[in-house]
Amino acid sequence: MIKGFTRFLQSPGEHLRSLFGPQEAAAGPPTPRVIARDDHPVSRRQFSEAALKVLYRLHNAGYEAYLVGGCLRDSLLGLTPKDFDVATDATPEQVKQLFRNSRIIGRRFRIVHVRFGREVIEVTTFRGKPNDDHAEHISAQSDDGLLLRDNVWGNIEEDAIRRDFTVNALYYSIADFSIHDFAGGLEDIESRTLRMIGDPATRYREDPVRMLRAVRFAAKLDFDFAPQTEAPLAEMAPLLLQIPAARLFDEVLKLFLSGEGLVAFRLLRDYGLFAMLFPEADEAMAELPWFEPLIEQALESTDRRIRDERPVTPAFLLAAFMWGPVQIRQARLEADGMPPVPALQAAAQQVITHELQHVSIPKRFSMPMRDIWDLQQRLPQRRGKRAFQTRDHPRFRAAYDFLLLREAAGELEPGLGDWWTAFQEADDHEQRRLLGKVGADPAGTAVPRKRKRRRRKPRANGPSNGSPDGPSDDS
Ligand code: ATP
Ligand code: MG
Repeated sequence: MIKGFTRFLQSPGEHLRSLFGPQEAAAGPPTPRVIARDDHPVSRRQFSEAALKVLYRLHNAGYEAYLVGGCLRDSLLGLTPKDFDVATDATPEQVKQLFRNSRIIGRRFRIVHVRFGREVIEVTTFRGKPNDDHAEHISAQSDDGLLLRDNVWGNIEEDAIRRDFTVNALYYSIADFSIHDFAGGLEDIESRTLRMIGDPATRYREDPVRMLRAVRFAAKLDFDFAPQTEAPLAEMAPLLLQIPAARLFDEVLKLFLSGEGLVAFRLLRDYGLFAMLFPEADEAMAELPWFEPLIEQALESTDRRIRDERPVTPAFLLAAFMWGPVQIRQARLEADGMPPVPALQAAAQQVITHELQHVSIPKRFSMPMRDIWDLQQRLPQRRGKRAFQTRDHPRFRAAYDFLLLREAAGELEPGLGDWWTAFQEADDHEQRRLLGKVGADPAGTAVPRKRKRRRRKPRANGPSNGSPDGPSDDS
């Protein structure tokens, strides 16, 4: 946290937490705690030029303009903001008129995207309290509390209490560079607490994705949940089944590519949220002892790569998330007499089709996933030109990493991974020697690891690719 910040938090008397919660409606609009420019550590230098341009242009046109949400929260925590969100009293149409490079997006929740090269500033009009007078296209709620449309404009006070967490309801005014705290967010930043504004169960019912956001922020920021924010999660997790699969895909990417994907995964599992996103994977973890370690190691290496600022592809991670179900289904198909190669392909197809009902994975990711899986059957086959063909496959590197992951997780006996490591580094002569070893060396096949304790259930009898009776021509 930025030094010198805490001294501004020494008068918690007026903070407004008690205004929220079940008695929220009776309490009237909250008065903000305003921290003047000289009394907080956030400086304009922490914000992007594009964000400042948007703020100033709105301000000069006579509108209110604030930075809000993650950028302010992260700046206060001493983190580099990922993107910038602006809140204003200008309507989306008015915003659009001010910026040529802008587009109104969303129906459920209309906002404006203002584009500057690769950077997009999200401009959101203050939301107000919906009431029954509004037409369907402006505001709508299902019988069980789900907000179907939320496009009622309001003022900043109303806007603040419609945001999700207290730490996300801090506003930075471009008029005088002060910070406005409507919900006790500064104090919660100080104590690293993630607290839902209002009654958490009601807010999760309005938008179940807030449960995933809760996990994402707790993981990414290393915050603890306030007890009431945490309490409803497990029970309300099934509400996620109402959410369109496309929205969940966006959220899944954010959860697992935030740099703290492993922590997020464990939290999701704790609250039964993971099962709502990847139900087959969740079940497969109970059946295949190596599968949870495989997912955890995939996440760990993704987190490490993000920390090292190396590129990551969601396809690799998603391939890991669904490898267990693919293996279970493949084994079943083979038990019914299908040969391993078509069995793997059919299993992959079934798993993806099933998963798409929950999380819509675009083709640009599911195609490479299938390549990674297919290559698992080809990696053990190295005779003749095959090793070279496999090595030259555009997805070889990912498939090889995936093989190492399977060995590290204990699905396969180690051996084949080392062979490929050596083969890639070898000169011509050494490559010939390595190819000569194939067939003679039992480690030249992908061997399922023998398990000491539990006996494998017949339906889940592990990978057939590379197993002694699998498709390998080397065994
Ligand atoms: P980051 O951008 O770092 O992931 P963020 O908090 O900025 O985090 P965004 O998704 O960019 O998250 O949303 C911007 C702000 O909009 C949030 O800080 C919050 O105030 C509000 N918000 C976003 N999604 C919701 C939601 N589902 N319910 C209520 N408020 C939301
Ligand atoms: Mg944001």
